[in-house]
This record gives sequence, C-alpha cells and structure tokens, in this order.
Amino acid sequence: MKLLFVTATNTNIGKTYTTIKLIETFAKQGILVGVCKPIETGVTDEPLDAKLLLETVQKYNNNFKALNPIDITSYTFKLPAAPFCADHKKNIKIENIKKKIKELQSLCDLLIIEGAGGLMVPITAEYKMIDLIQELKCKTLLVTPSKLGCINDTLLSIEALKNRDINFDWCVNLHEDKHEFKEVTQPFYNEVFPDWWSLDEKLEDFCHTYVS
Ligand code: GDP
Ligand code: MG
Repeated sequence: MKLLFVTATNTNIGKTYTTIKLIETFAKQGILVGVCKPIETGVTDEPLDAKLLLETVQKYNNNFKALNPIDITSYTFKLPAAPFCADHKKNIKIENIKKKIKELQSLCDLLIIEGAGGLMVPITAEYKMIDLIQELKCKTLLVTPSKLGCINDTLLSIEALKNRDINFDWCVNLHEDKHEFKEVTQPFYNEVFPDWWSLDEKLEDFCHTYVS
C-alpha cells in the first residue's frame, strides 16, 4: 500500500493543484488512487481543498464515492493559519491523523496526502509537518514556485528533507512570473540541478516511475 506526500515551500504554491493532477495522472495509468488532507485551516463552511480533492478521486475510485470532504480530513479549523495556531483548544492528536491515513489507505492502492503549508509548519508545539512525513516514511513530492525568491525557498526545503533522510523528488510549478523564470531562476537550476523538472512537462514520467 503506497503513500505519496505532497508538500510545498509554503502555502498557496500549488499543492492542491498538483495533487489533482497527480490523481488524474495516476488514475489514467490504472492505479486505484485515494486522497487525504489531514488538516485544513481557513475552513468556514466546508473544507474546500478536501472537497476538490475528493471530487477528483470520486471520478476514478468507487470506494471514495460515499465519503464527504470532512471524511478525508482529521481536523479542520476556521482560522487560516498554521494548525498549531488555528487549533485554539489544542485538540489535535497525531494518533488520529495516523489512524485516518490508515483508514483511507484501505480504500486504495496509492494514497496521496496533501500537507498544510510547508515542511516546518507546526501541527502541535513539538510536531511539524515534516515530522509526520518522516514518521509515515513516505515518498514526498515538494512543489516549488517559479517567482523571484523561489531558489532560496527551494534550497531550504531540500535541505530540510535531506537532513531527515526523506525520500523526495521536487518539481517547479511554473505558474507565477512564468516568463521571468527563464532568466531569473532557470540558469541556477540548469547549472546545479540539471534534472530539474516542471509539473506541466514531466508529471506523467514522475507518476510512471513512481509505480513501476
Ligand atoms: P496550495 O495552498 O499549495 O495547495 O496551493 P493551490 O494548489 O491551492 O494553489 C493556489 C492558487 O493558485 C489556486 O487558486 C490555484 O488554482 C492556483 N494555481 C496554482 N498553480 C497553478 C497553475 O500551475 N496554473 C494555474 N492556472 N493556477 C494555479
Ligand atoms: Mg491546498
């Protein structure tokens, strides 16, 4: 039973966007795919990331048909903030998150988990998103932005993942400041990471390699 964790250098970088593309691509490759959004903050009515993700999975996996968006999350909070800050009553129990992941794993062959924010986002005072990834021992896809400043953010996240011996790959979501990227960022990636890839160009290859 495989797991794939989708993280990013920060919030609003394209984790949900990427996860949807992953679901579609894996499904087209014949994989029974599922999805989990363990914690969603900024939720007023229903969790919107979870809703989008679930609606996508439901097109391909009947085992998820009867579920509601709330069923693919462990915790939702109103305040759009790091889980630790949004969780005013300090309700979060990591055990519950792990239980939810196990439960959803039984409904699919590959469970894709979308984190909240970036790697160092606190879930509790002592436990960060990267701790969950490490504990789950799952392969991780780091989504990075294309706007000015992305080199620094990308290198910091890569360093954190390497420090924890996490098995990861990373890709550029070529979206913001797309046209400047070639001059502002790409020269460094070409030099230091000649195998760097962008979501639009290489996601299919990533999915293919992941399951083979
Ligand atoms: P997350 O917070 O990391 O999950 O970021 P999202 O996936 O929600 O992306 C933030 C916003 O940017 C959303 O409104 C997305 O629809 C939009 N977005 C992100 N990446 C892309 C992209 O590559 N193309 C387009 N058209 N929109 C994108
Ligand atoms: Mg998201």
